[in-house]
Amino acid sequence: FVSPDPIWLHARIRPASTAAIDLAMGMSWTYRELDTDIQRAVTVLEARGVEPGARIAVLAQNSVYQIILQQAAMRLGAIFVPMNYRLAALELRLLLRDCTPVLLVGEAVASALPEGCEAISMAAFADLVAAAEPRPRRTAAIASHETCIILYTSGTSGTPKGAMLTPQFLLATAVNFNILGEVDTGCVFLCDSPMFHVIGIVTQIWPPLLRGGTVIVSPSFDPELTNARLSDATLAVTHYFCVPQMAEALRHASNFNPSQWTNLKALFTGGAPNPPTRIRWWLDQGVLIVDGYGMTETGTTLGMPLNWEIVRNKAGSVGVPGPLTAVRLVDETDQDVADGAPGEILVFGPNVTPGYWNRPEERERAFTADGWIRTGDIGRRDGDGFISIVDRRKDMFISGGENVFPVEIEAALISHPAVREASVIGIADERWGEVGRAYIVVATGQSLDADELVEYCRTLIARYKIPKEFHFVDTLPRTTSGKVMKHILRSGDWPPPP
Ligand code: ATP
Ligand code: MG
Repeated sequence: FVSPDPIWLHARIRPASTAAIDLAMGMSWTYRELDTDIQRAVTVLEARGVEPGARIAVLAQNSVYQIILQQAAMRLGAIFVPMNYRLAALELRLLLRDCTPVLLVGEAVASALPEGCEAISMAAFADLVAAAEPRPRRTAAIASHETCIILYTSGTSGTPKGAMLTPQFLLATAVNFNILGEVDTGCVFLCDSPMFHVIGIVTQIWPPLLRGGTVIVSPSFDPELTNARLSDATLAVTHYFCVPQMAEALRHASNFNPSQWTNLKALFTGGAPNPPTRIRWWLDQGVLIVDGYGMTETGTTLGMPLNWEIVRNKAGSVGVPGPLTAVRLVDETDQDVADGAPGEILVFGPNVTPGYWNRPEERERAFTADGWIRTGDIGRRDGDGFISIVDRRKDMFISGGENVFPVEIEAALISHPAVREASVIGIADERWGEVGRAYIVVATGQSLDADELVEYCRTLIARYKIPKEFHFVDTLPRTTSGKVMKHILRSGDWPPPP
């Protein structure tokens, strides 16, 4: 089928509705205006010689102009490549060499710019758009299964891989999210996750734009500002989605007052484990928190319903598959496991990437012969069909012959009031094969020692799961999306020398 173009559609059927607001620029766009600016941007790209299939790299903070650029690239058949502006020049150079863009929009890093790549700032791009004549729109510049975005994975387990995203991936993610998240035409999404991550460039944007609602774009996440915006009755934010690490920052902010979040239907989290104690804590504050599961390669895949009772009873679950997606849990021989048993999550549906840019061999490794993607995550399904994430396969270790999943241990540790953050890895041990080592960040103003934590864990988890070593640290090594990079913990280089 042809590529979805919800902005073009809403510009016809609800032209005067507000589509997008840019908080930093103090600008807003109706659907008609957004549609016209996208066609102007097509003119700008064509004038710079961008052809179908060419890559446009972006290195910039969030703005509505990124949405305009992404949509214009799609209407032209070009490929939008948002990149993490916090990466070092060397890392950027590797990614730029991988995607070989003809144009870079944003903060150019001169030393990283490949030959033949032109660079312009986002402000210059915005000026060009304002001055350009809108091109008449061509229908179906690309097919729904072709690549329109290359999105690098978070790099939690190593080097980021460029997942190819298609128009049908974007549409399916939006449909999955909209059904699970009860998104309607009156929805207002706040987008302040970085647009080089799937949450910022897909999940905070496509669901409201598909539905004809509004997306409010903030340049970046700031705990105080986000608290203020969620409390702001004029913005009237209905849906906010962030990673658990951001939710943690929100509740520790000085102006945290969720009783003022009167328009918010739910706080959506995903991207990393959100322990059951935290879920219940939010419910006790009167905030309906809804965890979901997805990845750069699969977009919105699973989600909890907007139902207090189910969320409370099943705290720690990431829910059920969205309507366009099928999920299997399998053992090492790809046989389906029974309810309650751990198995690797396989995903199938239009929301799944066709593979990785420049890495055909990764597709072989990451997919079954019949086209299901192997997520590398272990899940468990209860009798009602709700799935919980047990852990990443690579993070599991074996102690005395027993499989140990660090996420469970971390959840136990984090439930201790004096623990602010916890991360557990397996380390070699002569007697047990492997044992756990915990890295602990103690909450401000609290004190704690290893003996107390061991004692505490005894009441919660089996003895063989209790870490044998505790390292008290100031911070954990995290990706920009807030995930702990365990390969750095495993390398023994943490904490870094002062
Ligand atoms: P890389 O693939 O480069 O190592 P990454 O896997 O962290 O990085 P993303 O695509 O951003 O990159 O993240 C997807 C992963 O995040 C999933 O495979 C899963 O391990 C984890 N994840 C996503 N949602 C949840 C969740 N709700 N609970 C626990 N883990 C989650
Ligand atoms: Mg991954």
